[in-house]
Amino acid sequence: MRTPGRRRSRGTDAALPSTAELAALGARVSAARSATEARGETFYPGASRVHLAAFPPKEHWDDWVELSSRAWPARQEKHYTLVPTTCFNCESACGLLAYVDRGTGQVRKFEGNPEHPGSRGRNCAKGPATINQVTDPDRILYPLRRAGRRGEGGWVRISWDEALDALAARIRAALAESRQNEIMVHIGRPGEDGFTERVLASWGVDGHNSHTNVCSSGGRTGFQFWMGIDRPSPDHANAKVIYLISAHLEAGHYFNPHAQRITEARARGAKVIVLDTRLSNTATHADYWLSPQPGSEAAINLAVANHLIQSGNFDRDFVRKWWNWAEYLTACHPSVPVTFEAFEEILRGLYAEFTFEFAAAESGIPAETLAEVAAVVAAAGTRFSCHSWRSAAAGNLGGWQVSRTLFLICALLGAVATEGGTFPNVWNKFVPRPIHVPPQPGVWQELSWPVEYPLAQNELSFLLPHFLKDGRGKLDTYFIRVYNPVWTNPDGLSWLEVLGDEAKIGCFVALTPTWSESAYLADYVLPMGHSSERHDTHSYEQYDGQWIAFRQPVLRAARERRGETITDTRQVNPGEVWEENEFWIELSWRIDPDGSLGVRQYYESRNRPGEKLTVDEYYEWMFEHSVPGLPERAAAEGRTPLAWMRRYGAFEISRGQGAVHEQEVPAAELADVHTTPLGRVYTSAAAPSSPNIAPTGAPEPDEAGRRAAGVLVEGVVRRGFPTPSGRLEFWSGTLAAWGWPEHALPGYIRSHVHPSRLESDQLVLLSTFRLPTQIHTRSANSKWLNELSHTNPVWIHPSDAARLGVSRTGDLVRVETQIGYFVAKAWITEGIRPGVVACSHHMGRWKLSGHDQVGTGGMLATVDLHRRSHSWFMHPVGRVRGYKSADPDTARIWWSDTGVHQNLTFPVQPDPISGMHCWHQAVRVRPALPTDAHGDIAVDTGKAREVYAEWLALTRPAGTVSPDGTRRPRWLMRPVKPSADAFRLPALSPGPDGAP
Ligand code: SF4
Repeated sequence: MRTPGRRRSRGTDAALPSTAELAALGARVSAARSATEARGETFYPGASRVHLAAFPPKEHWDDWVELSSRAWPARQEKHYTLVPTTCFNCESACGLLAYVDRGTGQVRKFEGNPEHPGSRGRNCAKGPATINQVTDPDRILYPLRRAGRRGEGGWVRISWDEALDALAARIRAALAESRQNEIMVHIGRPGEDGFTERVLASWGVDGHNSHTNVCSSGGRTGFQFWMGIDRPSPDHANAKVIYLISAHLEAGHYFNPHAQRITEARARGAKVIVLDTRLSNTATHADYWLSPQPGSEAAINLAVANHLIQSGNFDRDFVRKWWNWAEYLTACHPSVPVTFEAFEEILRGLYAEFTFEFAAAESGIPAETLAEVAAVVAAAGTRFSCHSWRSAAAGNLGGWQVSRTLFLICALLGAVATEGGTFPNVWNKFVPRPIHVPPQPGVWQELSWPVEYPLAQNELSFLLPHFLKDGRGKLDTYFIRVYNPVWTNPDGLSWLEVLGDEAKIGCFVALTPTWSESAYLADYVLPMGHSSERHDTHSYEQYDGQWIAFRQPVLRAARERRGETITDTRQVNPGEVWEENEFWIELSWRIDPDGSLGVRQYYESRNRPGEKLTVDEYYEWMFEHSVPGLPERAAAEGRTPLAWMRRYGAFEISRGQGAVHEQEVPAAELADVHTTPLGRVYTSAAAPSSPNIAPTGAPEPDEAGRRAAGVLVEGVVRRGFPTPSGRLEFWSGTLAAWGWPEHALPGYIRSHVHPSRLESDQLVLLSTFRLPTQIHTRSANSKWLNELSHTNPVWIHPSDAARLGVSRTGDLVRVETQIGYFVAKAWITEGIRPGVVACSHHMGRWKLSGHDQVGTGGMLATVDLHRRSHSWFMHPVGRVRGYKSADPDTARIWWSDTGVHQNLTFPVQPDPISGMHCWHQAVRVRPALPTDAHGDIAVDTGKAREVYAEWLALTRPAGTVSPDGTRRPRWLMRPVKPSADAFRLPALSPGPDGAP
């Protein structure tokens, strides 16, 4: 929010004092000094001569002065160099300022970077807690190689050269022997825009795997089928109504930047509607909190949409211009005239069944409440912002229809790319083109993109153990990075089985700053830096503008500011901690030392031909050539673009993108135009070059090879949307053509935990919610966060507790899933709906007994893990307690309860369309047996195989539904997109005579 009397610095909303204000402040300090001295007292003017309420102005970042709190009342000044970087403790990429002590040369603390346009100087608790991760006494500092059998717990320290040479030799052999599909890099949180994808493409490998199908695929799929772009970018700050199927004030996607803007809108009178079965912190701030039966969210959305349709309270002009209603009529109602009036008539009929009464019966929310909410939504007009990401879309079979029906409301209101509306994210995101762009690999990785899931939003990552057990392939070298598959995924013990099997995974490499349940099983554990110890770029959709932020090793930048030359980030990081970018460059160089494999060319310097690319040159080139406005901005201060980014950490490229789809395509971009009967415009003119390569679903060329340039709207060729039709796809021709015509429209799919599918003694378990103060497994080495949040009780409504015989909060309960059970403490609360229980996924970290020499002491319980055939049993044998280390605080740990690892007891439940793991579980909850202990877990991985087979049977494989002999629609997004040839199904690959 703008502070009266203060200017906005260019590119930020942050309230920074202007030079004039600083001068005025100086004058006041002088006056105060005179007054104090006139009284005969000693005057102390304040450490940095800047008002304490202000962020450190950037003019002071070379020598920022604060008083030592420990020395008080002595006024001992501490001098800092302030260096920006980007937080990595969630996906929001907020700006941080590292306070580098000019005396010790070490980072003292992290606070917010006021120059960052997204976060505007603010952080959540996890941002400043970065200092804990950097100074964690348990972190991994040196490369390690396994000694003894895999998982046995023995390690030897090795040099980076040894690790690099061994891995390079394996990968080189795999590439030379055409075993590209035996190389896989599995990334949890990328924290960067495409560096690793380019590494894999440069190796000619389709080996990118992600965590997205256990996270946000459901949410993305619904948006992608509408817009060709898989994320919304809500303009919350200017909205009149904010509709969240998420917990955006505490933990939703981009939550700190969004929470700030939601708060601003609320202060101006915006209404907030929150759908969350659990009373989240966000729900407590809502004007309307709806606690629906899990899985009924799409029914509520449809009831709201139906109200808009039946009452005529929608933007007819927008719908007429931008929906693909004509395509829908042509395909599905061939006997009906292709007129908008005919479509409106059909539209009214399509959704008539979704009354408030219907939604009330499905959701348990009174029809009157739903009607009131719908009236509020209808009054929003084009100032309706919304978000759905994980939550319901990640919990349910058909969860992707939650975001598809949510966007239906936006699309009815015309609140698309409007002030206060919801944008396609790519218009508010900027991914700069890098120095080298390798071609698309010519292979297809079946272990990540299996034929059963042609429409999956992302890799079927969590099915990897089952695919390996099926014998669909094997991995020679498997990397994980910011990823802990045993702990994060459902069915973690199946992961443990395959990660321990050298016949299935030949070499397992963990790139990680900390120990984890998975890293214990690795053959190589290679220490990687935290957010202040590595390079990356980021850009995220957080308002209607585009920015780019630079993550950097802050000690490197601080020492370079002092005139030192740093050539390798290991020179400034603790121990031999490295960063991924330099690691990948070096590894790629060693894979192809003479260039004969074609890999090395993508790692060669342009400035020094034949020599290796440095990260400085990589980012120098990017900031110089691919970020509009940055070179000029930097030059105005006499800096290079890289030096400017090293100093300020973030740059706002543009603001107010507006309705890009409405832009008229210039005549210069149109030549040899071909327009389809439905208005898609193709051209053979070259595409305008753009430095922004933010990913979209890219429409395919037409049969003549012309590219899609726009869409004809009322006689004008406009840019439109990157969908096959160029319009918003109310009806998805892709879903219809690829075997799912019954779900081609926004609709309602009853969840696998719909009440009709539950047995009388079953409840629904919500297992997906984040806590505001933890971030999956990577925050377990942050002592501040651990003290705040370290356990995960099972939320249970008093009525359920009474019925089940759970008498008190803290009583142990057994939660039984399809493949096992876990034992947890009960938390009896009215903050959850009757019939539903909830447990946060953040807790329950563990290490095996006998592995006590390594670990993250504040959060990992010690467990015994027993196996008999497919039956596993885990039992905690050592709770967390204080211990001596280099950090005296570890002796002060007062908690012992670190929760339970519930994900181990969940079978895989992949949605047959989106591929999203459907996290909600049908469970039985009962008081624990006297022999049960908190944290006990039992799992049958044989049953896990059966459940995998049941869900696999729901799919419609490409081999039976593909309309064109390919594995997947080419226009859909894919992190590393293979070449067109690789898309062809094997049986239809051209034979020697060229025939299919
Ligand atoms: S929201 Fe918090 S954890 Fe996420 S990037 Fe911002 S400061 Fe870091």
